[in-house]
Amino acid sequence: MRKHWEVIKKIGQENVAWVYLLGSKLEQGVFIECVDAYDPRYSARQKWVVILSSQKGCPVKCRFCDASFYFRGNLSSEEILEQLDIVLEPHKNGDDCLHSEKIKLHFARMGEPALNPAVLEVLREIPSIYPGINFIPTVATVAPSGTEKWFEELIDIKNTYYSGSRFQLQFSVNSTDEDFRDYLMPVKKWSAQKISQYGHNFFRPGDRKVTLNYALSEGTPFEAEEISGTFDPEIFLVKITPVNPTYQAARAGLQTDLKFDGSYSERLARELDKLQSHGYEVIISIGSLEEIKVGSNCGQLAFYEVKEMENNKYDQEPANKAI
Ligand code: SF4
Repeated sequence: MRKHWEVIKKIGQENVAWVYLLGSKLEQGVFIECVDAYDPRYSARQKWVVILSSQKGCPVKCRFCDASFYFRGNLSSEEILEQLDIVLEPHKNGDDCLHSEKIKLHFARMGEPALNPAVLEVLREIPSIYPGINFIPTVATVAPSGTEKWFEELIDIKNTYYSGSRFQLQFSVNSTDEDFRDYLMPVKKWSAQKISQYGHNFFRPGDRKVTLNYALSEGTPFEAEEISGTFDPEIFLVKITPVNPTYQAARAGLQTDLKFDGSYSERLARELDKLQSHGYEVIISIGSLEEIKVGSNCGQLAFYEVKEMENNKYDQEPANKAI
């Protein structure tokens, strides 16, 4: 019997992704999501992906993200771990997923992990709760201001529990222009320069390189020189991803530069060539269309659930009914 969450919906497709919509048993109208996903390039035995929410919605309100439509606070460590238990449940008979060589555990669904201290608790607890499972935690963050202590603790946790390339840190940078970053991610956050300095403190030989993620829309400022003037290619790699077709991205008129068929603009090709000639590892990462079709973009299921609820509430309002 679970204390915090009930599964409201589970949608998806075998060997693609299962997205869980969870409703709080304790707080009315609170929904979060977690995901059980496969990477189409690999077998489950080679790679498996679990994605967890770290907050109830998200206060950052990125222009392209459907998780940003509401914010009801942080998740406790128990609430985060219960999501993990829900995703693991169908695999507990010991299938290939649990024995995968690489199990990515993303804190990247709903919420900004660096705003929630409970994410650090969970990272500390996981190795003792699941000693036999080879999780590689992946923290994706916009690096909000005021989170310096959180990030300092993260270094200790990575070195203590996940040394030897078993931790992935990703900064969602999304543009090389600071003003455009502010437009896309309208919260006070670290500058590119500050991210660079932190990367030097974070990285130790043998670690995975720190990822600079750019989900680029057409026309988003993206200059190789800005990156090469700021980030050390021995510490950082560059990852380009599509802007997913979310409700918010459509509303903001953001059209992805990197298409789902793998093509991208000549401008982007030129900048990526320059980055590679400066010694950067560049990854082009495209989620599968099947994954998009099952609605596995952050926040989409919760967004529609809450919208539906709001409409129901509206319909039930006597005053409104009278109009
Ligand atoms: S992309 Fe991440 S930080 Fe931005 S609104 Fe969505 S969940 Fe929050």
